[in-house]
Amino acid sequence: MIGQTIEHKLSVRKIKLAFCCFNTSLFGGVNVGRLQAVAVFCVLVAPFVVPSRAQTTPANPNAAKQITIVRAAHLLDVRDGRVLENQAVLVEGDRIRQVGPAASITNEFGHGATVIDLGNSMLLPGLVDCHNHILGNPKDQSPTADLRMSSPLQTLWGLHNLQIWLAHGFTTLRDAGESDLAYGQLALRNGINQGLVQGPRIVSAGNFISLTGGHGDADPLAPDQALARRPNLADNVNEVGDAVRRDIKYGADWIKLMATGGVMDTTSDFNVQELSEEQMAMAVEIAHRARKKVMAHAEGTEGIKAAVRAGVDSIEHGTMLDEEGATRMQQKGTWLVPTLYTFQHGVAVGASLGADPASVEKGKKVLGYQQTAFATALKHHLKIAYGVDDDPDFVSKEFGALVRGGMKPLDAIQAATVRASELLGMSDQIGTLEMGKYADVVAVTGDPLVDIQAMESVVFVMKGGVVFKMPAQK
Ligand SMILES: [Zn+2]
Repeated sequence: MIGQTIEHKLSVRKIKLAFCCFNTSLFGGVNVGRLQAVAVFCVLVAPFVVPSRAQTTPANPNAAKQITIVRAAHLLDVRDGRVLENQAVLVEGDRIRQVGPAASITNEFGHGATVIDLGNSMLLPGLVDCHNHILGNPKDQSPTADLRMSSPLQTLWGLHNLQIWLAHGFTTLRDAGESDLAYGQLALRNGINQGLVQGPRIVSAGNFISLTGGHGDADPLAPDQALARRPNLADNVNEVGDAVRRDIKYGADWIKLMATGGVMDTTSDFNVQELSEEQMAMAVEIAHRARKKVMAHAEGTEGIKAAVRAGVDSIEHGTMLDEEGATRMQQKGTWLVPTLYTFQHGVAVGASLGADPASVEKGKKVLGYQQTAFATALKHHLKIAYGVDDDPDFVSKEFGALVRGGMKPLDAIQAATVRASELLGMSDQIGTLEMGKYADVVAVTGDPLVDIQAMESVVFVMKGGVVFKMPAQK
C-alpha cells in the first residue's frame, strides 16, 4: 500500500510517540504543523529514539524486512557524474536492495511498501566527513575550553553535535581525535552502534598524540600551575608506542599524530615538525599491525614529508605542501584531507568565539599558503577526502571551498562520498547508492554539479534505512 505510515521504522519510548505520527502520503498535501513537529522531533528527540533493527534481538523478525522506496526526479551516480532521471532506491531493512527506474521499482515492489516521493530533488549517497572533532561546544574556541568541561558534558555536547551532522546529510564521520582521556567519542560510536542513541556511523581516532608543548598538549597553564602529565604526550619513540597502545586498548579505529605545530593552540608553530619520523614510523608499525590506520595533522613542509615517509595513511590539512611532498604522496597513495574552509572561517569569526589572538594570527598566515598547496595537490592528482574540522553548522561549507580552490564539483562530491569511503576502508558499505550497501540516502534541491551550493540544502536524510529528515513544506 503506497503511502503507508513510516511509524514502523521506529520503536519509540511511549512518551515520545506523539511526535512520530506523520505519514509519507502527506507530501501530496502536507500538514505544515505536523512536519514542523517532525523537524523538532528529528533534532531534539531523535537521540533517544531506538530503531527497531538496532536491537540485539528484534521483537519482530519481520521488522528487518520492511520495504521502503525512495524516489526522486534525479539521482546522481557519484562514480561517474551521470544524472539519471526518475530513479528510485529500494530499501530493505538497513540496506539498499536495488536502484533503478522509479516506475518499474514502484510497480514491482510498491505493494505494502512505504513510498517516499521527493519530487524534483536529486538523490545522492549519504555524505562522509573525514575530519571532525565531535565532542564539546564547537562555539567555544578558547584554549581552555576542553579543560572547563568534564568528559560526560563534552560527550553530551557530542551527542547534540551529531544530530547537526545528520541533519546536513552526513551519515558517516571520522573523528580526527579528541583531548578526552575517557574517550567520550568512542562511547558515542559504541552507543550508536548498539542502538542506544542515534547519530551518524562513526570511525574514530583516540587522543591526539603529541610532543610535550606540541599542538596536542592540552595544558596551556603556567609552569607552576601545570596539569599532571597526560598519557597522550610522547617525547620519544617508546612513549609513542605507549600512547598508541593505550588508544588501541580502549577501542580507537585510527591513531592521530601531531606531526607539526598547529593553529588552535597558543604556542606551537605550524611550520615546525614536532613528532620525529622515527616516532611516527613506530606509531604506523603498531597501528597497522593491529589493523588500525594513522592520520597525521601536518601543516609545515618538513613535517608533511616526514609523516609520508613514516607511512601514515592520511595527511590532514597539508597547509604548506610542496612539490616534493606531493610527489611522495602521489607515489605512496597517501590521502590528503585539506580542510580549507575551517581556516578561512576561523580567521573571520575565531576572535568572536574566544580564540586566542595568537591563534587568529596563525590562521591568517595559513591562508597565505593554503591555495598554493591545494593547487599542488590537485596538479599531482592526490587522493582527496572531505573534512570540515569545524562547527557542524558549517559542515557543508567545505564543498564550496574545495570548488573555489580549483576542484570540479563532481570531484568535491566524490571526496565526500565514494572517495571518503575508500579512505575509511568502507567502500563495500557506504559511499555510493548501490545494491547491498547501507541505505544511507540524502536528497538536495538543485543540481550541485551546476551550483555546488546545492550541497548546503539537504532536504532528506536516511541512515541505514531510518529517516532522519524530511523536506519542509513550502
Ligand atoms: Zn582537526
